Amino acid sequence: MTRELSTREITRLADLGEGTARSAASCARCGGRLPSTKHGVPRRDARYCSPACRSAATRELRAAARDDLAVAIGLLARALKALGLDPARPRRRPRE
Ligand SMILES: [Zn+2]
Repeated sequence: MTRELSTREITRLADLGEGTARSAASCARCGGRLPSTKHGVPRRDARYCSPACRSAATRELRAAARDDLAVAIGLLARALKALGLDPARPRRRPRE
């Protein structure tokens, strides 16, 4: 039942990373069809179906990152307050 993978197949799988052949063959955002080469094969480096989808994905990623950052800053501020540390005030150095 099992067979050895060819070097080409192994390379292809490595290029796909953790994704499967199916997920690699569709747009990472909308699941649409990826642009094809002139041979009708989906382009290996393509992740999105269109520049519009790529831009939208970047916008969404950045919006999510901004939300994550706001949460992280909130947590940091709370931790600093609990520890009695004020980043706005320079720490006094011990006298030598
Ligand atoms: Zn798309």
